[in-house]
Amino acid sequence: MIKVLLVEDDVRLADALAGALEAGGYAVDQVRTAEGALAAEPADIVLLDLGLPDMDGIELCARLRERHDVGDTAIIMVTARGRQRERVRGLRSGADDYVVKPLAIEELCARMEAVLRRTRRRTDTPLSVGPVRVDPATRAVTRGGRPVELTRKEFDLLVALVREPGTVVSREHLLLRVWQTTWPGTLRTLEVHIGTLRSKLDVPGLIETVRGVGYRLAADGGTPPPPDEEPTGHSASASPGAASAVSAAPAAPTTSAAPTGAATAARRP
Ligand code: CA
Repeated sequence: MIKVLLVEDDVRLADALAGALEAGGYAVDQVRTAEGALAAEPADIVLLDLGLPDMDGIELCARLRERHDVGDTAIIMVTARGRQRERVRGLRSGADDYVVKPLAIEELCARMEAVLRRTRRRTDTPLSVGPVRVDPATRAVTRGGRPVELTRKEFDLLVALVREPGTVVSREHLLLRVWQTTWPGTLRTLEVHIGTLRSKLDVPGLIETVRGVGYRLAADGGTPPPPDEEPTGHSASASPGAASAVSAAPAAPTTSAAPTGAATAARRP
């Protein structure tokens, strides 16, 4: 059953909406405040009123995006604020759709179905590039069939890159997708996460740096080590190099040549 988190402080509206949605086969969890929304169980879809007593809905949307896995939860803003500037601001803060009150329940249901179709398609298909396979549904990552443990942000970052192999994904897009911000101060965090992602995946040349622009996943999957080579010695030489190259040079993003070069050098007698 699809779980809906209804964040709405207008009790009468919330009860009417919840009744209609439950009749439509949804499981509805109601909260009246932003605090309640942040403490609630994860849902498939969040219906978010923007005028809440304890926090602006736009900020709450960004906070929910930080907590829940990006892509797993759909967020629809439901609000009386219908001006274009506000709709744009709402969508930019991480909402998947925006419905203006007074709303027709049929339209809301249709929008929920459309948004769920998009998030399902987005999240359910396993993706692979070279030896790396990413399953967004189970959040499992393997490299050459072996599991790779990633943090939540590293995983979200990898998913954002792996969806568009061979294409440069801008730093701003990654910041927005993974950290829900475009504040330049977060660039350093992005670089650090790219560094740890490179060292954990341990596929030289897989994540290329496009200096000053962003990152690109090599469409050919980078350069995996030969299958008969034990990955331990390789990772011991290449990974810390890739990681330290990032952390040692905050101003200059590492180039894709760094991990590749390190790996090549390490294999030389
Ligand atoms: Ca309200």
